[in-house]
Amino acid sequence: MSLLEFDEVDKYFGETHVLKDVGLNVEEGEVCVIIGPSGSGKSTLLRCANRLEEIQDGEIRLEGTSISDPDADINRLRQRIGMVFQSFNLFPHKTAVENVTLAPTKVKGLKGDEAERRADELLDRVGLSAQADSYPNQLSGGQQQRVAIARALAMDPHVMLFDEVTSALDPELVGEVLEVMHDLADEGMTMLVVTHEMGFAREVGDRIVLMADGRVVEDSPPEVFFEDPRTDRGKQFLSKLL
Ligand code: ADP
Ligand code: MG
Repeated sequence: MSLLEFDEVDKYFGETHVLKDVGLNVEEGEVCVIIGPSGSGKSTLLRCANRLEEIQDGEIRLEGTSISDPDADINRLRQRIGMVFQSFNLFPHKTAVENVTLAPTKVKGLKGDEAERRADELLDRVGLSAQADSYPNQLSGGQQQRVAIARALAMDPHVMLFDEVTSALDPELVGEVLEVMHDLADEGMTMLVVTHEMGFAREVGDRIVLMADGRVVEDSPPEVFFEDPRTDRGKQFLSKLL
């Protein structure tokens, strides 16, 4: 059993068929990097995994349990799936540490001091101990995104989904966020990462999944994908990067 399984998934927005028979298994501890042109369905795939979008056919399973089943306990499943988006969406009137403690206290019923101790640990892990009491508008974009990662980790997720988390950042701030993600991967976190950062994809990814027009068109180890892609779509994509 894989940790996260997409099984013949179809997703429509009205008449538009945006995910076409998508099959993808993410193993425990694996970093699966999804790349592909804009509009190919990458964000939709992640959003379906967190049930932010419904699918019309197929099944998505987390640790063997259906996510897509209408009777699934979505709140329970969502606790096991952390998600970080391009826009950090921190609560503006809460400090960094308050952003991190909010969900564990509200959803998991963690006591205040316990949640705070854990938040301090997580902020330290993303290199932001000194900023615990800062408000989002006092932080750089890179720092805000690292708080968003700490906030997602606070729920002890079994898998983390990242959707272009560095795309909105000034170039000089991208590295610090990728570094946190690299550390997470090294610690064994299972990750599904949509990114345009090919250096990261190559170095940290266990698998490169290329999407085009709603389909998975190539699924290869990075050394294969970046040296000698198996498919024409892969070759095409790579040639545009050079
Ligand atoms: P990517 O993340 O790869 O750029 P998306 O998953 O955002 O692609 O989009 C895939 C397709 O689905 C696109 O054609 C997009 O226009 C369409 N789409 C995405 N979200 C919606 C929505 N809420 N309503 C209608 N169409 C959507
Ligand atoms: Mg997207």
